[in-house]
Formats: sequence, structure tokens, C-alpha cells
Amino acid sequence: MFKKSFISVLVIAFMLFITGGSLMAEDILSAKAKNIVLISSLSAKGDMENLENAVKKGLSEGLTVNEIKEVMTQLYAYCGFPRSLNALSVLLKVTKEGTYAQGEEGKALDENVSKNEIGTKTQTELAGAPVKGELFEFAPAIDAYLKEHLFADIFSRGVLTRSEREIATIAALSSLEGVESQLNSHINIGKNTGLTQAQIDEILKLVSMEPKKQIFAIGNKNDAYKDYFTGQSYLNPLTIEQVKTSNVTFEPGCRNNWHIHHKGGQILLVTSGRGYYQEWGKPAQELKEGDVVNIPPEVKHWHGAAPDSWFSHIAIEVPSKKGSTQWLEKVSDEEYSKLK
Ligand code: MN
Repeated sequence: MFKKSFISVLVIAFMLFITGGSLMAEDILSAKAKNIVLISSLSAKGDMENLENAVKKGLSEGLTVNEIKEVMTQLYAYCGFPRSLNALSVLLKVTKEGTYAQGEEGKALDENVSKNEIGTKTQTELAGAPVKGELFEFAPAIDAYLKEHLFADIFSRGVLTRSEREIATIAALSSLEGVESQLNSHINIGKNTGLTQAQIDEILKLVSMEPKKQIFAIGNKNDAYKDYFTGQSYLNPLTIEQVKTSNVTFEPGCRNNWHIHHKGGQILLVTSGRGYYQEWGKPAQELKEGDVVNIPPEVKHWHGAAPDSWFSHIAIEVPSKKGSTQWLEKVSDEEYSKLK
């Protein structure tokens, strides 16, 4: 009996060793972490429309109301009260419309403790060494706010682990422009809380793959043309009078088939994301916001998103007598997979 159970323990231990080694489970972000990334990033960007869906998704996948509240509250230290308050108002709206688990509530520090001491200790542990510098001597008030407020008040609230708080911060900072130095600091702090490089890479990838805020509405799923696309696209016809003009949006990896605009050509104005345009027999050309593509009539080509980015362009149909579009073969996975 003893021998039998001893052998099964050995077998189980061996199997855990094998699967643990091959799956590298510690390098994959949990569903909870992914939802924190999405909520934090959309809050930082002030994208209320997509945030509402992200909050509903997070709640339905097990985040509590208080966990989301903590993410959004902490964010005011990184993107200001306006973003934080707007995000919390989205959370309030969603919780009024349904019943969700509240979870553990964040707690405030006692009034009689030294916030400077607690904050300095937490900041030092997170950064791996005491944080000093000319800037903090130049503006001592901001140094005190960082320690006493961010690293004492906010970080002592519980509910989220330090690592989860860093996931939220990295997601928020990677959504903002001009904060590369702070982002790099928090990538290091994230590693000090136990995040792996692969997990950090996944946070950055998830943020870069989120739909971008657009000037023109995304429109509906482009079902009428779905046979001529690989992946999901969206179409918003902006005007069908005079010069036919549409907003076309491609999910990451989505592209249209090779095709030819006969008689009249086409003009593309790239409005958001990263994508490609390729003419038959030529290398693919990378496209980004602000790029203009002139497609002459009778030239075989395709256009679409990069594998890791949403992509939108305005498509202008150059008016012509009896113009038409001829749809051809798909851009093969083999060909497309060569693109970054
Ligand atoms: Mn075209």
C-alpha cells in the first residue's frame, strides 16, 4: 500500500516536471491579468466606448468590482484625475445595470503611521534600491507625494498584489506617449515583483493589439464583402454621393484578396494602426497613420492590417465610366506570414 502510493507520487511529480518544463505556464498571463491590461490601457487612453465592453468582459470572467475600482483609482497617479474619474464613472454605470461580485474592499492606512517611512520602504523594495536623483532634490514635494501617497496610501490598500498593480501600470504607461523612461522603470519594477520578460512582452503586445480610437465610426461587420477578405473587417460608407468614400477597418491579421480596380483607381488615406499595401510582383509596403496610397487602375494589389495591429483607412473610389472591382485569389498565409 505504502509502496504503491509512493510510486504514484513519484509519477505525478515526474509528470508535473515534464509539463511544467514544456508548457512554461509561468510565462503566460492569466485571464485576470489580461483583463487588468485591457481595462487599465483603455482607461489611460480615455476610450470610454471600448472600456465599457472591457469592464463587462472582466466582470464576467471573474474580476470583482473592487479589483477594477483599485486599478482605476491607482491610475490617477499615472494619468491624472480626469482619466481615473471617467473610468470609474464607466464602472459605476456598468454596476448599476447588473449584479456583480464586489469582492474584498481596499483599506486606508491608519492616521498615526509614518506614510513617508512606509512609502520609502515600498518604493525601495519595488525599485530594488533607494530611488534618488537631482529631480527629487529640485522638487522635493513630488518626491514626498510619490512616497507618501502612491507608494504608501495606494500600495497599502490591498485587493491587488504588487505584481497586479505593476501590470496595470505597465499597460497604462505603454498606452501613453512620451513616457518611455517611466515605462522602462516600471518594466524593471514589474520584474522585481516576479513578472517574467515573456509576460511583459505579452502585456505590451496586448496593448498594441487593442482597437484604436478613430475619427470616423468603425461601422458594421463587412459581411457583404466577407468572401473577398481573410479575417474580420468593418465597413462604414461615409458617402455614396459624388465620390464614393468609405472607412474600412481591419482586425489584426485581416487583409483583402488580391484585386484590381478597373478603369478608375483607388486612393487610400491611412487613419490609424499599422498595415500593408502590396502590388503584384513587388515587395509589400508598410503603412502607418497619415500615409497616402495612390492605386492606379488595372494594378493587381491587396491591402490590410499587420499581424499584430488593427488598421483603418479611408478608401476613395476614383470616379470612372463603368468602373468595377475584380476580386482574385486570397493572399496566402505563407506569403502573409513573411510580414512583421
Ligand atoms: Mn484596393
